[in-house]
Amino acid sequence: MPEATYRRALCWIRRDLRLSDHTALAEAAAAAAEVIVAFVYDRPILDALADPDDRRLTFISRSLDELDSGLRSLGSHLVTLQGDPVDLIPRLAEHTGSEAVFASHDDDPYALERDTRVAGALAKDGRSFHSHKDCVVFERREVLSQTGAPFRVFTPYSRAWRALLTPEAVAERISDLARLARAPIPLPGWAYPGNLPLAEVGFRPADLWLEPGETAAHARLRTFATHGLTEYKDRRDFPGEEGTSGLSVHLRHGTVSVRECFRTALAVEGKGAAKWLDELVWREFYHMVLANFPHVVETTFREEYADIEWPGTDGHHDAWENGQTGYPFVDAAMRCFKATGWMHNRLRMVTAMFLTKDLLVDYRRGEAYFARTLLDFELASNNGGWQWSASTGVDAQPYFRVFNPVLQSRKFDPDGSFIKRWCPELEGYDANSVHWPSATGPLEQIAAGCVVGERYPHPIVDHDVQRARAIALFKA
Ligand SMILES: Cc1cc2nc3c(=O)[nH]c(=O)nc-3n(C[C@H](O)[C@H](O)[C@H](O)COP(=O)(O)OP(=O)(O)OC[C@H]3O[C@@H](n4cnc5c(N)ncnc54)[C@H](O)[C@@H]3O)c2cc1C
Repeated sequence: MPEATYRRALCWIRRDLRLSDHTALAEAAAAAAEVIVAFVYDRPILDALADPDDRRLTFISRSLDELDSGLRSLGSHLVTLQGDPVDLIPRLAEHTGSEAVFASHDDDPYALERDTRVAGALAKDGRSFHSHKDCVVFERREVLSQTGAPFRVFTPYSRAWRALLTPEAVAERISDLARLARAPIPLPGWAYPGNLPLAEVGFRPADLWLEPGETAAHARLRTFATHGLTEYKDRRDFPGEEGTSGLSVHLRHGTVSVRECFRTALAVEGKGAAKWLDELVWREFYHMVLANFPHVVETTFREEYADIEWPGTDGHHDAWENGQTGYPFVDAAMRCFKATGWMHNRLRMVTAMFLTKDLLVDYRRGEAYFARTLLDFELASNNGGWQWSASTGVDAQPYFRVFNPVLQSRKFDPDGSFIKRWCPELEGYDANSVHWPSATGPLEQIAAGCVVGERYPHPIVDHDVQRARAIALFKA
């Protein structure tokens, strides 16, 4: 056991809700004789969430319940607080006599500013703040081009990323759990010994499509490694199948370590695992973009598109959000999304491109709706995905390559089963006509039990016309 520098330290967890392979916890336990694990229900973030049924709070709360149980089985417990961390973390450090605070990097602009202020407040009292990389393997300016600049194109970034990869970069971070503070930790009245009940944070429990917590994340990763990884390349584009890992929610909240995901991918040979690793590198790429080009939060990555005036209407935006566009693949995706908070990657691309190129609505409106609704919402990846689809981003889809939503539907939902699950009024259409029911004749529509314009809407736009308008808008 290394000699402790500090008598006591706080490990402030935020987007790393687990105990295993946890950089900040490992560092805290290496540096301090006693470590208190704390979480703050961050009111500046929570107060901006309009919906008391927000599913993400259920995911976080249940993951913290498991984390608290894990700590209790080791003789300690979690400490939760609610309020502004800039005020609470220094106060908790003072009250508990913690000389240092350990946390994981979070490069979202709000978090960066918050952490700078927390570090400043701690320093005033002679306490230190240590933040460590954890949610990606390579961050910020670690992967640079030969000229020392951040990459603007994925393929060379990915090559450089791989060239830097060593076993140490993805090695497990092991914590000395014997150094956890013993229960009961003496606390002031404003700190809660355990996980604050969800109702006290102002949210209601919501149904989730996946199990929260570290145990469930491991189980999902193991199942995917055994049954999904080798076929990933062939199955990943079909929303009707379970061809992807479904781990993004766990990665977002850190109930799984990204290093463990990489170790899993590297341990399996073949094209499936290689493709999956590639997708994890896309995640790293978008984190790098956010850290180096933070203007993307407000405006287009590519300056030449910053002034586009998107002519799309509120009515079209609302039809998109409610799955009432008359394009079945888009509508099924949007209805599934509203009901579950989840959307398959292929559908994210199709619906984002439909909003921006077919409906000509500003990508920021779609990005904001996804940000409110996605269980796996991550600023870097969401912004990256939207700007890719809108052709305004770093290494984006060129503006003249516009997805045809009906062809996408035929290709990626060939039997229409995904459409029929979420647009049950189209159940009577066969596998050919379900992708574009408005092209069928009146008798066929009656026979299918759903006349277009009655139970299912007419297409709200003509794809060919809108595609030409979108291209003209970009050219202009
Ligand atoms: C418009 C749009 C918005 C998006 N918003 C988000 C978001 O808020 N949060 C988010 O995690 N992903 C986002 N993505 C990326 C991607 O759609 C999801 O990561 C993926 O669907 C998650 O499913 P999975 O875990 O089964 O992925 P898998 O296919 O199993 O991939 C493994 C992991 O790699 C990462 N990944 C995969 N594809 C991408 C990608 N294109 N960009 C970045 N990372 C990727 C994710 O962490 C994912 O969990 C967005 C994509 C688009 C087009």
